[in-house]
This record gives sequence, structure tokens and C-alpha cells, in this order.
Amino acid sequence: METHVWSIPMGTRFRGITVREGMLIRTDSGWGEWSPFLDYTEPAVVEPWLRAAEEAAAGDWPTPVRTTVPVNVTVPAVGPEQAHTIVTRGGCRTAKVKVGEPGQTLADDLARVEAVRDALGPSGRVRVDVNGLWDIDTAVASIPALDRASGGLEYVEQPVASVEDLALVRRRVDVPIAADESIRRAADPYRVRDLEAADIAVLKVQPLGGVRACLRIAEEIGLPVVVSSALETSVGIAAGVALAAALPDLPYACGLATVQLLTDDVVAEPLLPVDGQLPVVTPTIDTAKLAALAAGDARRSSWAERLAAVREFRS
Ligand SMILES: [Mg+2]
Repeated sequence: METHVWSIPMGTRFRGITVREGMLIRTDSGWGEWSPFLDYTEPAVVEPWLRAAEEAAAGDWPTPVRTTVPVNVTVPAVGPEQAHTIVTRGGCRTAKVKVGEPGQTLADDLARVEAVRDALGPSGRVRVDVNGLWDIDTAVASIPALDRASGGLEYVEQPVASVEDLALVRRRVDVPIAADESIRRAADPYRVRDLEAADIAVLKVQPLGGVRACLRIAEEIGLPVVVSSALETSVGIAAGVALAAALPDLPYACGLATVQLLTDDVVAEPLLPVDGQLPVVTPTIDTAKLAALAAGDARRSSWAERLAAVREFRS
């Protein structure tokens, strides 16, 4: 197995990071991406991420049932004019709007979702993402207001932080609730289901151990899923696309239009949406780009240590 450690600056700070790092692994059958965030230090946590990369590199994805998958455009906590421009330019029929950011008011959020609805028109879909930042009372007061201002929300993603609170909020509002941050390990989706904490589960291929593992989870939890990224290069995004393409039902646009958050990519043709869709493809590595994006010696040995720790954990 060949390994390549890459380092790519982010266009803007996201999730508190300015540089994304990861390892590509290669076998005779293909490439896979292993890019657990650097603050994930436990071998038990990063091991499923490696399983996802190994599955990809083994070329072991299930047969797709569609040739493209719909994706959403993401609207950060910007003003209404900029929000309108982002949605219009994006060409997607679904927009995910960040709300509840510290330093902003509900009025700011209402103006933003109104502008997004205006840009999408009545047939577009608007979802909001709170990243767990509200308390229960704020969620219960804000969700109906956002629902009205947006002309109808598709769902609200992680309005509060804990899965218990998610269940409480869900019983007090009419808008469907999606669990995102509440799902980080393979056991989490079952807990969300058992507590009836959400109507929709956001699944990410790497933290949950691969495309086939996610398909199994989707089948077992009996909730509709939204496939999302973990800020990967196009190699990791392709795994998300493979999952979305293999799901029997895909009622929601995926959160996979994220490669543009990175300033570069390791493939010749990055997985960017065309008319709101991503193609179902096996990524082709651009070896010149991979060489240009190679991390320095210190970072390479740090990733080699991470990999050794996972192997040690497995044995
Ligand atoms: Mg989210």
C-alpha cells in the first residue's frame, strides 16, 4: 500500500481550521482518502475513517442506482444580498443556510433565509443548520419564525447540541429535525433513532466506517438520510457520492458540494456541482498535483505515527 500525505489551505476558516490535511492510500485497485480531523486523537475514533479509505482503495463500493446526485449550496452567516448572490450563482435547487451564529440576531437569520427563498423561488428547498448552538427555548421560538420567513423549511439541522435536547425540541416544533453533530460514531444513529430525536439522519462516510457501513446504518435506522462530507478532497467526496448513488431512496440533496472550500484538489477534475448535481465517478488522481500538495517531512511522519497507532489498536 502506497501512502501520500497532502496539505491544502482552506479558502476561509471553517470548523476552526485554515489548512486541511489527510492521507491518500493506494492499492492496485484504486485510491482512498483517510483524513480524520487533527483534533481526533483516539485510535478508536480514527479507525473507522481508515476503514472507509481502505474500502475505497479496494474498489469495493456497491453498485450505483443513479448516475448523478443532487447537492445543496451552503450559505454562511452572511448578509441577505450576499446570500442571494451565493444561491443564484450556485445553480443548486436546495440551499443550506447557517443560522444561530454568535454575534448575530434572529432578525439577521430571518433576513438571510428570506433572501435565499427569493433567490431559489417557490420550488427550491431551504434548510437551516444551527450546529447545536441554540438552547431549547431559543430553538422552540426561532424555528417557527424561520419557517415562516423562509416560506417553509425542509428541515432544521442540529438546533441544539445534545441528542436528549434534540428529542425535546422535536416534540415542540412542526419542522422536521435532522441530527448531524449527534452522529459521529457508528452507534450514534441508533441512539438518535431510539430516542426519536430526529426525523432525518446526516451520515458521513469516513467517521461511520465506509459506504457499505453507512448503507447498512441507513437500512437499520429506518430514517431518511442526508449524505454529507467531512471537508474532503474529491477522493473523499467521491465516497459520499458513491453512498448517495447506492441508497434505494434519496429524498434530500446531499451536503457534498464542499471541495470549493479547499483552495486546491488532488484530482484533475474536482467534484464540483453542475446544475446542482455531482456525477457518480471514480476519481482520477493528478500525480503532479499530489506532488505539489505533498505535506512536509514533519507532517508526513506525524501521519505515519497516526496510521501506526490505528494498526496497533487493531491488532
Ligand atoms: Mg451540519
